[in-house]
Amino acid sequence: MKHNIRRILIANRGEIALRILRACKEMEIESVLVYSEADADSIPVKFADIAVCIGPANPSLSYLNFSQIITVATLLDVDAVHPGYGFLSENATFANICQDYGLIFIGPTPESLIHCANKAHVRNIAKNAKVPILPGTEEPLKDIQDALRTAEIIGYPLLLKASMGGGGRGIRRVDSKQQLTEFFPIVQRESFASFGSDEIYMEKLLLHPRHIEVQIFGDGKGNVIHLGTRECSIQRKHQKLIEESPTCGLSKEKEALLVQSAVRLGEKLQYKNAGTCEFITDDKGHFYFLEINTRIQVEHPVTEETTGIDIVKMQIQIAQTDALPMQQSEVKQSGWAMEFRIVAENSKTFIPCAGCIEFVHFPAGRGVRVDSHVYSGYVVPSSYDSLLAKLIIRGANRQEVLTIAKRALQECTILGIQTNIPLLLEVLDHPEYQQGNINTSFLEQYILP
Ligand code: ADP
Ligand code: ADP
Ligand code: MG
Repeated sequence: MKHNIRRILIANRGEIALRILRACKEMEIESVLVYSEADADSIPVKFADIAVCIGPANPSLSYLNFSQIITVATLLDVDAVHPGYGFLSENATFANICQDYGLIFIGPTPESLIHCANKAHVRNIAKNAKVPILPGTEEPLKDIQDALRTAEIIGYPLLLKASMGGGGRGIRRVDSKQQLTEFFPIVQRESFASFGSDEIYMEKLLLHPRHIEVQIFGDGKGNVIHLGTRECSIQRKHQKLIEESPTCGLSKEKEALLVQSAVRLGEKLQYKNAGTCEFITDDKGHFYFLEINTRIQVEHPVTEETTGIDIVKMQIQIAQTDALPMQQSEVKQSGWAMEFRIVAENSKTFIPCAGCIEFVHFPAGRGVRVDSHVYSGYVVPSSYDSLLAKLIIRGANRQEVLTIAKRALQECTILGIQTNIPLLLEVLDHPEYQQGNINTSFLEQYILP
C-alpha cells in the first residue's frame, strides 16, 4: 500500500535530528521538530520547517514524553514519526500509540520491537534461525542459584548483561563464583535503574573479539536485503568510537556466512525497515550473534559512503511503500569509509564534560563529511549524550582513508571544552591499528596507561 508522507515529526535531537531533517528537505517532505528547553538554541531547531518546544531538559519530560509528542503530531497534521536512535526509537509502546493515532512509525513493527528488545529472548530466536550464539542463557536468569548453576556449565569468565540493556550499559565481566554472587544483585540494580527492568542474562565472555555488524532492511513480509558489514571494534565502555566499512581481516567466505546469518534472522522476524544485527568474532573468524538494534545506527554513514545509498531516505521510502526500493543485486559496495565519533569527554578517563564551545572549525576537503549539530558559541547540555560530531572519511581503500583521516582530525579544532580528538589521533598513529589488527580491547591493550 502506498502511504502519502508529506510531513514528518522528528522525535530526537542533536546530529541525528539534523541528519533526518536533511533527508526530509531533499525529499521535499515538511519537517516538524520537537525539542526540549535545553535545545532551544540548536541548529536542528533553526532548520526545521516547524519546531515545537515540548518540555524541560529532562528526557522523561520531553524526548520521552509520549503524550506531548503525539499531541504535537496530531495538532500539526503529521503523517509519520522518525524516532532516530536512542530515546523512543526502540519503544514498542510508543510505536503502538503512533499506530493508534494513525501515524506511521518509521521503523519496525511493534511486534518486532518487542521481540528484539529483550536481548536474552532474541538469542533464542537467533538460535532457532541457526545463527550462532555464544554459550549462555536464552531466557533471563531466575535468581542467583540459576546463575551459579548456569555458570558451572558455560564456565568463567562470563558476562552478566541487562536483558533490556543498550548503549553499552548494564554489562559486567565475572571471573569467579565469588564475583558472580557479589555482582548479580549489583547488575540487577543497575539494570533496573537504567532500563526499568531487573532482568539479566548470562553470556560466555569472548576474549579480545572484534565487533562486526550487518545493516539490514526488510519490507515486513519476509523480504530482507543487506548493505554489507561494519567493523566497530574500537570501543570504550562497551561503546563504539571508530567504525569502518567494509571489514578488514575477515575472509570473504566468513563474511558471506555472517551476512547470510543476519539476513536469515531478518527473514525469520519478518523484519521491517532498517536494523542492525551485531556479532562478535574470534581470531579464527567464528562469529556469534549479540543483538539486533531495531533502529538507525549512529555509524550508518560508513555504509552510506561505500554503497551510495541514503539510509534515512530508504527508511522513509519503506514507510511510504511497505516495499524495499531495491533488490540485493542492486546493492554495490566500493571504496572504504571510517567514522570517528568526536565526543565531549576526557581522552583518558572518558568522563563526559558539558560546557560552552568557544570556537569550532570542522575539517573539509576531499573525502571528508562531518555530521554535527554544534557551532561556535554552542553550549553542550549535560542532560544528553556527549556526541558532538561524526567525522566520516571516504577513500579508495583503507590506507587512503587513514591518510585523509589524520589530516582531517588535525584540522578539527574545538575550543572551550574537552574532546577525545587526542585519543582518536593516538589510535590512528598506532601501527597495529594501521595494520587492521584491532579488537574490542584495543584501547586497554595499546593506548591507555
Ligand atoms: P549504536 O549501536 O548505534 O552505535 P550506541 O550504542 O552508541 O548506538 O547508542 C546510540 C545512542 O542511543 C546513544 O546515545 C545511547 O546512549 C543511546 N541508546 C542506545 N541504546 C539505548 C537504550 N536501550 N536506552 C537508552 N538509550 C540508548
Ligand atoms: P549493547 O546493547 O549495550 O550495545 P551488546 O550486547 O551489543 O550491548 O554489547 C556491547 C559490546 O560489549 C560489544 O560490542 C562487545 O564489545 C562487548 N560484548 C558484549 N557481549 C560480549 C561477549 N559475550 N564477549 C565479549 N564481548 C562482549
Ligand atoms: Mg550493541
